[in-house]
Amino acid sequence: MQKKAVLFDFWGTIIENGVFPSPVKQAKFILRLRVPFVDYIQKFENAFMTQRFENLSDGFQNVVKAFNTNAPPFVIEKLVGMWNKNTLLAKPFDDTIEAIKELKAKGVKVCIVANTDPFSVNQVLDKFELRDLFDEIFLSYEEGMLKTDPQLFEVICARLGLNKEDLIMVGDSMQSDIKAAQNAEIMPILIDRRNKRDFDNKVKNLFEIKNFLDDNLEDLEKEN
Ligand SMILES: [Mg+2]
Repeated sequence: MQKKAVLFDFWGTIIENGVFPSPVKQAKFILRLRVPFVDYIQKFENAFMTQRFENLSDGFQNVVKAFNTNAPPFVIEKLVGMWNKNTLLAKPFDDTIEAIKELKAKGVKVCIVANTDPFSVNQVLDKFELRDLFDEIFLSYEEGMLKTDPQLFEVICARLGLNKEDLIMVGDSMQSDIKAAQNAEIMPILIDRRNKRDFDNKVKNLFEIKNFLDDNLEDLEKEN
C-alpha cells in the first residue's frame, strides 16, 4: 500500500535550530530546573506551546508558573532573547526543499506537525517563504494539543481525509515524534542526520524518506 501523506516535525527535522544546545534545553538551564528531561519537556511544551500568548514573555511566565518556581524579570528577558536568537538564526537544512518537492512530485501530501509557541515556527516559515510547500500545517498552539496527544493525529486524519495507515510521521525526537506516532498507531521514521541512533525506520537525510512510501516495496522487489 502506498503512503499518502508525510507529516514532518519542524525543529531538527526540516529546520536547523539557530542556537546550540537546543532552545528547549537552554530554557531548562536558564530556569535552573532540576527535573529529569523527559518530565521537563512535556511540562514545558504543555505550558508554552498549547495556547496563544500576546508575546514570548507571557509564554515564559506561564512556564514559570507550571514549574511552580520564580523568575526575576532579567531571567524572563534572557529566555526571550535566547528564543528570538534561535528563531532569527534558524534555517532549512540543505536537503529540505528539494526532498519535499520530490515527495510532492510523487503525489504525496506533505504537512508540518509541530509543537510550537505562536511565534517561532510562523516567523521561519514566512522568512524562507516555505508555506506554499506544504499541504497542511498543524501547530500545537493552534490545535491546543501536543504531538504526544493521540487526539491530535485524529484531527490530522480528519482534516486530510486520510486514515492512519496512509500516514508517515518523520521526526528527530524519540519522545515527541517517534513514540508519539507509535502511540497514535502511525508509522514513524526517525531522521538521524549524524547517524548515531539505532532504529529500524531510520533515514540520514530527507531524500531517503521516499524509500518508505511503499509498505510492500521489498515484497515487490522479490517478486520481480
Ligand atoms: Mg524536532
